Amino acid sequence: MSERKTSYLRSVLDSIPAYRPGRRVVGPDGRSAKLSSNESPFGPLPSVRAAVADAAADLNRYPDPAATELTAALARRFEVPEDHVALGAGSVGVLQQLLETVAEPGVEVAYAWRSFEAYPLLVGLSGAVPVQVPLRGETHDLEALAAAVTDRTRLLFVCNPNNPTGTAMREDELTAFLDAVPDHVLVVLDEAYREYVRDPRVPDGVRLYRDRPNVAVLRTFSKAYGLAALRVGFLVGHPHVAEAVRKTMVPFAVNHLAQAAAVASLAAEQELLERVEETVKERERVRGALLADGWTVPETEANFVWLRLGEDTLDFAAACERAGIAIRPFAGEGARVSIGAPEDNDAFLEVARAYPRRN
Ligand code: PMP
Repeated sequence: MSERKTSYLRSVLDSIPAYRPGRRVVGPDGRSAKLSSNESPFGPLPSVRAAVADAAADLNRYPDPAATELTAALARRFEVPEDHVALGAGSVGVLQQLLETVAEPGVEVAYAWRSFEAYPLLVGLSGAVPVQVPLRGETHDLEALAAAVTDRTRLLFVCNPNNPTGTAMREDELTAFLDAVPDHVLVVLDEAYREYVRDPRVPDGVRLYRDRPNVAVLRTFSKAYGLAALRVGFLVGHPHVAEAVRKTMVPFAVNHLAQAAAVASLAAEQELLERVEETVKERERVRGALLADGWTVPETEANFVWLRLGEDTLDFAAACERAGIAIRPFAGEGARVSIGAPEDNDAFLEVARAYPRRN
């Protein structure tokens, strides 16, 4: 019976776990700090809220499929031609579109591991072969990643800063890597956390892609711009890449409210980046406090910290949950903790300080 029931499903689905979204938990005192999804702790700006409310008047109409206004605003913002921009429903949507442009049986897609959880999931779903290259310590091993390229490789994801370790690659390392990757491979620099980077040695991918036809950059409105619920991500790449990514988008994937909110966010960018600055200050405060308490925390350029806890990971996450704090544990490896509002960060630091073991 069960065999018949599942015979029409692709067998690859059996080996693909469902995406695990960050959870919300509630502590005994009613505290509910969600530090599990690297979201912005700030609610939408009044101007963004107003733009969404205005756009709601047209909910009976399909959205502009080409997202004309948003595409033009992004092109202006990044000083690129409009045909270098492609959109998707969040940057995971763009990742899926990218895979749709390259994936065929036997095609390899390589990325560092551990990195963003959606990579193996989406590569597996696409039917391509995932090739995972272990991190060296907490950072990308770019030499090993370049060495993993074969004739069958078509796509490489490079997450900079890396989720979940927070580490970021410098320009000299990254350009040497890009120069070493052959032209038959498209390199996608996933810069979901770019706005939180403060180390001047870490390059902006939008500068690096310009004279490299096989390099593209992935960004999102979900983190620094605080629009996670609305699902807007985009790619900046050369026209042949951007066009392919537009072709593989589900029609109307970026809805009308999302387009309006993203345009309003770009118009209010200075205000949003001031909020990012507060998160960066909190990040330094949290990391400093953890270091002072004897924890080992890699330098982070993102809006989260990484604690390599090994076998203690789930126990530590449970201690956080008991205090009403959701973090993101990776069993047997470590925990990623987002930087939230100061009071939530304080609550987390209290749990970490009381925890009987250090990493
Ligand atoms: N890339 C990285 C590295 C991420 O961490 C995330 C979100 N966790 C994404 C892409 C996807 O974000 P979104 O789909 O919300 O744009």
